[in-house]
Amino acid sequence: MRKKTDLPRKPSVVPARTTARATRAKAAPGRRATAPAPMLTASAKRTFRTKLLGWYRAQGRSLPWRETDDPYHILVSEVMLQQTQVDRVLPKYHEWLAKFPSLDVLAGADEHDVAETWRPLGYNIRPRRLQSIAREAVARFGGQLPSDEATLRSFKGIGPYTAGAVLSFAFRKRAAILDTNVARVLFRIFVGEGDPDAHAMQRHLWALSRDVLPRRHAEVFDFNQALMDFGALQCPARKPQCPTCPLRRQCRWHRA
Ligand code: SF4
Repeated sequence: MRKKTDLPRKPSVVPARTTARATRAKAAPGRRATAPAPMLTASAKRTFRTKLLGWYRAQGRSLPWRETDDPYHILVSEVMLQQTQVDRVLPKYHEWLAKFPSLDVLAGADEHDVAETWRPLGYNIRPRRLQSIAREAVARFGGQLPSDEATLRSFKGIGPYTAGAVLSFAFRKRAAILDTNVARVLFRIFVGEGDPDAHAMQRHLWALSRDVLPRRHAEVFDFNQALMDFGALQCPARKPQCPTCPLRRQCRWHRA
């Protein structure tokens, strides 16, 4: 069965954003099928949020899609990042939005032009999916993206991760995300052993991602951005920076 992913995957690519199941975490060499760890205490969640947000204030990246709350712009960045590294996405993100500044414009654009503009990002189903989403948004919602999860998820090409990103980054809602980076961070810190790719573990990691979300909506944007940056910069799949990690005392994987 194909996993619930926002887009199909190209196995040879290590993307900046994939859904969590898309990359088998290399963090647990001796993966065993263990029962997921129990959920977190209030104290553990508080410590995690405080240290993560402190790290983000000092180390977080400045990226153009963090300077906007336009749902379409957020969607474009998320779809581009699903299969491509940030440094390759940056110029294309600006070029794309200059050419297709709105869902309306993208919906009416020539399909060949859309495909050509996407090059050389690759994995070319993505521009087709974006245009399909744009056309549906125009046909059903007057050229806007809806702000509730169920309706967003009803679009072909918008899976749980992209819906969570659009909801939390554009609409500032209290929505969880779980891409590969976030899954790796949550797995290492709060679980530490077992098979991160198992269905039960994935459900557990989604539950953890929801559980650790700040209560205050105003903090969710930074918190989710911080999770992604932390996974990309401090705790990558290879060579996590444990000696300088503010969360190492809390990290089960580090202690194991
Ligand atoms: S201690 Fe190491 S493995 Fe654990 S979260 Fe920090 S960087 Fe990642």
